[in-house]
Amino acid sequence: MDDCLCARCARTRETCCQFCEIYVSPGDARRIASHIGRHDFFEDRPPIDARYADQDDDPPWRDHVFQSDGSRRVLKRALSGDCGFLGSAGCVLPLEVRPIVCRLYPFEYDATGLKDELSEGCPTHLVRPGMSLLGELDMQPDDGRRWRDMLYDEITLESAFRADPLMILGETEPATADAARL
Ligand code: SF4
Ligand code: SF4
Repeated sequence: MDDCLCARCARTRETCCQFCEIYVSPGDARRIASHIGRHDFFEDRPPIDARYADQDDDPPWRDHVFQSDGSRRVLKRALSGDCGFLGSAGCVLPLEVRPIVCRLYPFEYDATGLKDELSEGCPTHLVRPGMSLLGELDMQPDDGRRWRDMLYDEITLESAFRADPLMILGETEPATADAARL
């Protein structure tokens, strides 16, 4: 029996869950914290990969997501570089709880919508004959458009979240230094 593209990908190379820097929107922070019961899973950090810092072609992303010191809220990673939510069988978070940027991968997008091209990060040489990359990943453009809209709505909450993270996390006391610092 054949297995999914992501499993074949993981057997042959580093996957997106091991090399991507994952932005955590205010809504992501709230959804994940509600699901796992803690919010020590994110931190403010400048990009390690300089390509994440070059957002001049997407002013809303540049202006809302990045702080004046060049940092933004991202998922913490293990020393190995793996995402903290990467388990032996893939992501441990349900799809509708995962950071929106994870759900969107490998769609490319900006403030105007989904782009025609896909990210080049997936191993297209492992796509089976007669299948498309999106077909292998069981991804629908309608979901991509919905998630992109959600993401760009949520980045506009950044200022309010940084001013009062407890408002969105629904807590009365900051549970972590990371959350308190926002
Ligand atoms: S989404 Fe693409 S890069 Fe990520 S694990 Fe699947 S095939 Fe690999
Ligand atoms: S949250 Fe899940 S899908 Fe996103 S990088 Fe981490 S393991 Fe991968």
